[in-house]
Amino acid sequence: MTPQERTAELAEGLAAVRARIAAACAAAGRDENEITLIAVTKTFPASDVRLLAGLGLTEVAENRDQEARPKAAECADLPLTWHFVGRLQTNKARAVAGYADVVHSVDRSRLVSALSESAVRAGRTLRCLVQVSLEEDAAGGPAGRGGAAPDAVPGLADEIAGAAGLRLGGVMAVAPLGADPLPAFTRLAGLAGEIRRNHPDARIVSAGMSGDLEQAIACGATHLRVGTALLGGRRAIVR
Ligand SMILES: *Cc1c(COP(=O)(O)O)cnc(C)c1O
Repeated sequence: MTPQERTAELAEGLAAVRARIAAACAAAGRDENEITLIAVTKTFPASDVRLLAGLGLTEVAENRDQEARPKAAECADLPLTWHFVGRLQTNKARAVAGYADVVHSVDRSRLVSALSESAVRAGRTLRCLVQVSLEEDAAGGPAGRGGAAPDAVPGLADEIAGAAGLRLGGVMAVAPLGADPLPAFTRLAGLAGEIRRNHPDARIVSAGMSGDLEQAIACGATHLRVGTALLGGRRAIVR
């Protein structure tokens, strides 16, 4: 595929996603300007990130440090905000703090301290979201998507807000697989409201992916993490 063909494909995906966002905002009585679209570029090459930037996208997300780090370096000349959305091991915190602007997957105290220390050392400020597990099993479910149990979320939010080098951005969740996303997103919205009582600037609600962005918008999401609907299908990743 030529770069021109790929650009046309990405432009088509972007137009379709923007149309879905517009329709969902209209249905929910919300202003489209409240929604930030993040392109999840995992498994796709840095050349796609560059083409998306050319189409006006400014927010990019990755979920694995070993893939994100070189991609961010290759795209360092572009005016992009990098989001880290995957499970994060404490020993990767230092690397991620070097290029990520927003970390969506903060789900335990040890990670808060590791990110804080790394951000200070790098002279950077990281915006952090508390990832909430909305699986029945509070440990992140059988899929192991991570996330803090809902009752641990306000405490973690306070820790982030008090940590040097970190700013509390809000909350993030992935809807449970194979279930109606509405109850999960409603629960997330409740937790987000609870956190805002003490931290009024923590307004980010990161929810909604290719398959459930309409429900997320209906429940107050501010940031959508969209991969497949923008970039096409991913090959299976072997971990
Ligand atoms: C891959 C991924 C997405 C994007 O999923 P799509 O269904 O391809 O839109 C969103 N959030 C996280 C945490 C992801 O890992």
